[in-house]
Amino acid sequence: MCHGFIDSPNKDGILISQGMALQFDTDIQFVKGVGPKLGELFRKRGILRVQDLIEFFPRTYEDRRAVRHIQSLVPDQLVSIKAKVLKVRSMQLGRSKRRMYEVVIGDASGRISCKFFRVPYRGFFERFEPMAEVRVIGKVTFYRGVKEFHHPDIHPIKEDEENENDLIPIYTELEGLSTTRIQRLIQTVIGQPIPDVLPVWVREKHGLIPLGEALREIHDPPLELADQFLAITSKAQQRIIFDEFFWVELHLALKRAGIEREKSIPIVSKGRLAERLEKSLEFDLTGAQKRAYAEIIADLAKPHPMHRLVQGDVGSGKTLVALMAAAFVAEGAAQTALMVPTEILAEQHYANSVKRLEPLGIGCALLTSQTKNKERIEILERLKTGKLQLVIGTHALIQDDVEFKSLALVIVDEQHRFGVEQRNKLKRKGVSPHFLVMTATPIPRTLAMTVYGDLDVSIIDELPKGRQPIVTRKTFQSKRGLVMGFVRDQLKAGRQAYIVYPLIEESETMELKNAIEEHEKIKEEFSEFQVGLLHGRMKSQEKDEVMRRFRAGAIQILVATTVIEVGVDVPNANIMVIEHTERFGLSQLHQLRGRVGRGEHKSYCILILGYAMSEEAAQRADIMEKTNDGFKIAEADLEMRGPGEFLGTRQSGLPGFRMANLVRDVKILQQARDAAFTLIERDPTLSKLEHLPLKKKLEELLKMWVG
Ligand code: ADP
Ligand code: MG
Repeated sequence: MCHGFIDSPNKDGILISQGMALQFDTDIQFVKGVGPKLGELFRKRGILRVQDLIEFFPRTYEDRRAVRHIQSLVPDQLVSIKAKVLKVRSMQLGRSKRRMYEVVIGDASGRISCKFFRVPYRGFFERFEPMAEVRVIGKVTFYRGVKEFHHPDIHPIKEDEENENDLIPIYTELEGLSTTRIQRLIQTVIGQPIPDVLPVWVREKHGLIPLGEALREIHDPPLELADQFLAITSKAQQRIIFDEFFWVELHLALKRAGIEREKSIPIVSKGRLAERLEKSLEFDLTGAQKRAYAEIIADLAKPHPMHRLVQGDVGSGKTLVALMAAAFVAEGAAQTALMVPTEILAEQHYANSVKRLEPLGIGCALLTSQTKNKERIEILERLKTGKLQLVIGTHALIQDDVEFKSLALVIVDEQHRFGVEQRNKLKRKGVSPHFLVMTATPIPRTLAMTVYGDLDVSIIDELPKGRQPIVTRKTFQSKRGLVMGFVRDQLKAGRQAYIVYPLIEESETMELKNAIEEHEKIKEEFSEFQVGLLHGRMKSQEKDEVMRRFRAGAIQILVATTVIEVGVDVPNANIMVIEHTERFGLSQLHQLRGRVGRGEHKSYCILILGYAMSEEAAQRADIMEKTNDGFKIAEADLEMRGPGEFLGTRQSGLPGFRMANLVRDVKILQQARDAAFTLIERDPTLSKLEHLPLKKKLEELLKMWVG
């Protein structure tokens, strides 16, 4: 039997007659109305099969139920209006090379500008002739007291576009392929049976409608559900969102089940060394530190490897928890490797372990690319023979000739700085070692569930006693004099300060202050104090020397780039001045601020903003002023940037979601996670017959996520 939408019965005829799933799978080329040219266009966008076309979701819906007038538009509203083109023009933005394009439209009630900061595709603006009727769909923005559209959907109205009083799906236009044509093409294929591999019990438990029904409604929403579709709360959209989360969670649940089947070396330790370490401290552990430690050693007693993330805000004392875990392992005659992203941090952790662990008889070593060859050979030998119980280092640890006698615990600090492969390489140096990652870039719970969903999480949500919240103030270049006066007062009182700049060397285009040049000026300005300089292009030895002197108080002001961003711990430093705050991202600012507020002194973070600053930069500074809570900042960051950018390029393996939103859809994420983990509990390797279609689909998806 040949379905109507298939053009060619020849070589695919056999496949087509075999069943429904293959039709969903059919090459886009065989869809009626898709010629070679269109096929090529689709392929470029990754639309290869009928399924991909069906999963090309509308980017929004146009609500034609109410006719609106320009005069009556309200900011932040998503609207659809009909108007006439009055003018199309482009202009240069300030002194930069960037251009802005503007389509001014009007109706009897008024006019409004549609602004574009990039050209959507070639020929886009040529389509708008003066006085032509257009439809504009977009969100009304309020900018400097004027209402306007930024990057709206705008297209000339054609005669065949008569269906008023409806909710129309709007697709992202592909070069030359209008949203109306995309809609029509989808309608020709959507009638086909759509396989739904989600188990019935999952659908029933979470009240999900069948996949086919969901997809059909998404491309042609029933008018009575218009409000739900606009608010993204319809059953159809929720089903798709659920699926998007479900596949990620299923992947994580499988990974997790795999870890639980692995066997690891049991660690026989009473924890006496760790106890002695605790007693030797000049302060008490926080409740959260104790809890994290308890969770870790409970894991270490299990016959399969620990897989745990310790999340704690900057300054919450994660290092100590790591050292206690290392002490626990050392007592069990096994080894720990602690990997950190920078030499400064490795050096600092090493100094800590020498102070805290060596008195207990635990052998510690530091291994970085700066370690002298003779010393390195000796360290490698002692690791191999088991004479060292803890090695701290940078990625120098993952070199091939670094071997262990019995590596039982791998700790990765500031783990977001490392790629998956680097972490795995270190893990492979032991036999299924326990694995602990620490991060001070708090990841919102929702994101943690998707990115680290296969890890257990310990949260250190308590700062050591006596810490006062850091006072954060934003200010402008013009107030710099006042800021420096304040810095001077604090230095006179015995404190120390960081002054951070975004770039190392002057760059003509950006006219930024730079650390090297400013260092000279600040040296003059603060001639009665010692001023040090730290940046990424300095030799390691020089860096170490500067850090050592700053830690010892021989330097009072440290002018630096973001090399000090992670981990650096000098409790006497209580001022962080950040120049050109607008150049930094939120989590970076929070990390930098975390360098102060580490001792008993009241601490300050001063954000100096340049004048050329975007709306978002101002928002970031506001958020910093408002809260010290890293988790709140991470949520805001995620919301402002979206998960892709939030995670950066290093965190691969997370697919982009087409409809799901990690901030908006937390509840669905939780349900999808429950479903996936329950499923894997029942069938840990997905090998039951009824789960084979699930497994096949997951494998297919995995190929796509990786590729
Ligand atoms: P982070 O979690 O950012 O890695 P660190 O481990 O660098 O934090 O700890 C920050 C500072 O707090 C260090 O100087 C450390 O010695 C100190 N510290 C850690 N735990 C406590 C505690 N329970 N009470 C007081 N100070 C602590
Ligand atoms: Mg740390």
